[in-house]
Amino acid sequence: MSVIGIDFGNEGCYVAAARSGGIETLANDYSLRATPSFVAFDGKKRIIGVAAKNQQVTNMKNTVGGFKRLLGRKFNDPHVQHELKSIPARVESRNDGSIGIKVNYLNEDQHFSPEQLTAMLFTKLKETSAAAMQTQVNDCVITCPVFFTNAERQALLDAAQIAGLNVLRLMNETTATALAYGFYKNDLFEEKPRNVIFVDFGHSALQVSACVFTKGKLKMLASSWDQIGGRDIDLALADYFTTEFLERYKINAKTNARANLRLLTEIEKLKKQMSANSTKLPLNIECFLDDVDVSSSMQRSQMEELCAPVLQRVEQTFKKLLVESKLSLDDIHSVEIVGGSTRIPSVKQLIEQVFNKPASTTLNQDEAVSRGAALQCAIMSPAVRVREFGVTDIQNYAVKVLWEGDGTSSNGEVEIFPQFHPSPFSRLVTIARKSPFVASIVYGQQVPYPDQTIGTWKIKDVKPTERGESQDVKLKVRINQNGIVLISSAVLVDRKEQEEAAAASEQAAADDKNAGEQAGPNASEQAEAQPEGNDKTKKKTKKDIELPMEPITHGFEPTVLTSYAQQEAKMIGNDQKETERIDAKNALEEFVYDMRNKLQGGPLERYVVESERESIVAQLNDLENWLYEDGEDCDRETYTNRLTALLQKTDPIKLRAHDYEQCPAVFEELKNSI
Ligand code: ATP
Ligand code: MG
Repeated sequence: MSVIGIDFGNEGCYVAAARSGGIETLANDYSLRATPSFVAFDGKKRIIGVAAKNQQVTNMKNTVGGFKRLLGRKFNDPHVQHELKSIPARVESRNDGSIGIKVNYLNEDQHFSPEQLTAMLFTKLKETSAAAMQTQVNDCVITCPVFFTNAERQALLDAAQIAGLNVLRLMNETTATALAYGFYKNDLFEEKPRNVIFVDFGHSALQVSACVFTKGKLKMLASSWDQIGGRDIDLALADYFTTEFLERYKINAKTNARANLRLLTEIEKLKKQMSANSTKLPLNIECFLDDVDVSSSMQRSQMEELCAPVLQRVEQTFKKLLVESKLSLDDIHSVEIVGGSTRIPSVKQLIEQVFNKPASTTLNQDEAVSRGAALQCAIMSPAVRVREFGVTDIQNYAVKVLWEGDGTSSNGEVEIFPQFHPSPFSRLVTIARKSPFVASIVYGQQVPYPDQTIGTWKIKDVKPTERGESQDVKLKVRINQNGIVLISSAVLVDRKEQEEAAAASEQAAADDKNAGEQAGPNASEQAEAQPEGNDKTKKKTKKDIELPMEPITHGFEPTVLTSYAQQEAKMIGNDQKETERIDAKNALEEFVYDMRNKLQGGPLERYVVESERESIVAQLNDLENWLYEDGEDCDRETYTNRLTALLQKTDPIKLRAHDYEQCPAVFEELKNSI
């Protein structure tokens, strides 16, 4: 069994594995460490990763990328509508308002959800890992942006489940980076805590987090982010060149999706070159549109001008973190950078300007996130033994609990977790009730998701006491290790027993500085705090009755998930069959060329009589023609049967050659005696 960490980027994914010798980033079937986040379809199979991106220009409608930003969302979501502008595939609203990405697969139109596409990518990463590690992979840690809301996190977990991955933790990307940094520097944190800022500027997002390291653990303090990335820089440059080409060549790249894609590809190359070079660099595209070749050029200073709005937002995000983390410039030990877009010189300059420190590149800029995730997986999994390292993450948004009033009380509300609260964590809210009621969890601040509601929980079976009084219902509100907020349990508490138990555990509660914190507006609505794994303040008594709950929250129903998982398994089976079919065809084709060369002037020529040799060569020629015509698209058996029939004729020749080479003297003797 092996354990892996997955960095699921908007543009590309990285997978790292933890082995006893350390952490290793794995290479895919193209010997590359980055697997593009692209899935494509054709009449026979799915094409995922490098191969999918490579064929995008010739199969635009059936090649899908950019689905990370669609996870857990509805079609009408303005964010989705914005994203769709840069996704050339056909995307539709399904009956329930969800997103259906329409592709032609197995010669029919089929719809897939962003979660299913993500699962397909995970399947590929799973295969990459299995091939590299020579063993089955199940346990993993997957990363997601720190700003992902409950719905998006749940969608990612659903995708992993569809792909048959067991997610030990969904980890914020910058937290994984922090772990990759801190794990091997542990000895340096002995003297005093070290505050480090991590900047991840990728393809679609900028994330900046502050973290404090002490010996054996890290604690995230705050984060700021913006949904801008390298792709926004590409778009700004594309606008510039499109206008230029319209003026100079009278062609409009925006009218042609293929031309637009080619332009963006060339721009990305140019942008990367500009990071290393400040002189003027050329941009040439042959047969761009209407057979017109276009050429232009740009230099770094010009790019910086065109991208000024993006760079301004980068600067604002840096400054925001300084405010949110409450760190002074002197408190900050260093600023570590990861993510492709931090290679841009002006981004590094902004870091220096705002934080008064040069950007530090201790980490591998592309692989750090996946490596941190693999380390977390190793720490959590029993399959690999590594040193412990505590990770306390943050909940990026304030969270409130709301509950409806009954006949005697009005609606209630309490902020259960302020922004940047440590995670994982549990808090208890006590509400006096005589009858079943509904409690909801909502975000207590603006979030990048159209619906502030995380979920509603119907708390059932609540009854008054025998004397007709209300009873205390304790709701346990939890931020779990995936950063998902939920009501994990509801219990009906016997008041008398509770008072006795509370008195007994008062001392224990005092040890926990968060415990007993008054969070509700009146005495009956109290919150008790519990970092996960710490049961000291537990006041559950014998007579506590677990109440059934009916949650309505994000994510697929279990039956839907099961059917998606079955569909995925079927597609994996189909891909496998298709791969075997292609392999059988290639084997036959290779055999035809190889055997013909060997029989005509090659090493086997002298071991077969001429008439038979001519007959076999003629058969090989026919087969070659057949492979290009009627035999171009047959099933696996047809190819293997033809190969078997050929082998029956050629194997005896090979055998004769083999026997001769083993013992030529015997043959010479035999020949002479005839
Ligand atoms: P995200 O983190 O937003 O989900 P991602 O993890 O896929 O996306 P990265 O791989 O970190 O993103 O970065 C990809 C981005 O970095 C692309 O926009 C790419 O053009 C840009 N990039 C890579 N190398 C350079 C470079 N040398 N100069 C400028 N930009 C670069
Ligand atoms: Mg990234």
